Amino acid sequence: MNELEYLKRAFDKERLAHAYILCGNDENKVQESAQEFVRYINCAKRSENSCKECESCLAIDGNRFPDLYRVAPHGTEEESQWRAEIKIGQIRQLGMSLSRAAWNAPFQVAIVEQAHTMNVEAQSAFLKLLEEPRGPVLFLLLTKHEFVLLDTIRSRAQQLACWNFTARPEQARSLEEFQKLQQVSLHERFVVAKELAENPSRISVELEKWLYAARAALMNTLKEKADGSSLSKMLKTVRAIQEVSAILARTNSNARLALERLMIEF
Ligand SMILES: [Zn+2]
Repeated sequence: MNELEYLKRAFDKERLAHAYILCGNDENKVQESAQEFVRYINCAKRSENSCKECESCLAIDGNRFPDLYRVAPHGTEEESQWRAEIKIGQIRQLGMSLSRAAWNAPFQVAIVEQAHTMNVEAQSAFLKLLEEPRGPVLFLLLTKHEFVLLDTIRSRAQQLACWNFTARPEQARSLEEFQKLQQVSLHERFVVAKELAENPSRISVELEKWLYAARAALMNTLKEKADGSSLSKMLKTVRAIQEVSAILARTNSNARLALERLMIEF
C-alpha cells in the first residue's frame, strides 16, 4: 500500500491523524499524492479515486477551494531549492485562516510545501498551530528533508515515506558515476566539489543522484550479506549525503566546504 492508499483508507475508516509528514525525494509525486488526497476527501463522486471533474475536484485543482490552504517558500525556483524560506508571517497567516470554520468541507486542510524551508521561528509557530485545539483541520507537510523539522513537530505528526527509487536509465548511470567517484583520489573529488559549488543549481540534482546511488549500493551490500563494517560505512555515506542536502537546503553554509566534507566520506 503506498502513502496515498494509506491516507485514503485512514479517511474511509475515520481514523485520520491530525498531521502527516509526507517525505520523499520525488517532489512532484509527493505533491500529486497530497493533491489527490484532498480531492478524494472532498469529491462528490469518489470511488477508488477522486473523479477530477466534480465542482470540488475542479476547485481544488484550480486553487480556489475555500477549505484548502497552501504555504510555500517564496522565491524563484532556484532559490526555493536552496535559499528561500517559509517565514513566521506565513504560518501566522495560516493560523488566522484556520481559525474560522470550514465552509463546506468535512475539515480544513493545510498543505505546507517544502516544509523543511520553514525557518526556526516559523517551525515554532507551526508547532503552536499543531498544539492548539481547533476545529477539524488536517495538516500535510511535504518535504524531502524531514529530519530538518523540529523533533516536537515530527513527534506530533505521522510520517509517511514516499521514496521513489524506481530505476530510471539516468539513475543506473548515476550508480556507475558514483562508484567511479568513490575510487578516485581525494584531490580529484575535491575538484568535483569545487566545480559543483560553482553551479548551485546543479547541487541538489547531483546530491539526489548520489543519494540514489548510495542507497542502491547499500541494498547491494545487504544482498551480498557483506560484513558489518562495510555496511556501516555505506550507512554513514547515505546519512552524510542526507545531512549535507539538508544543511545546504536550510542554511547559507558554504557549499564548497560542505561538499568537500562529504567527499571525505565517500
Ligand atoms: Zn470529484
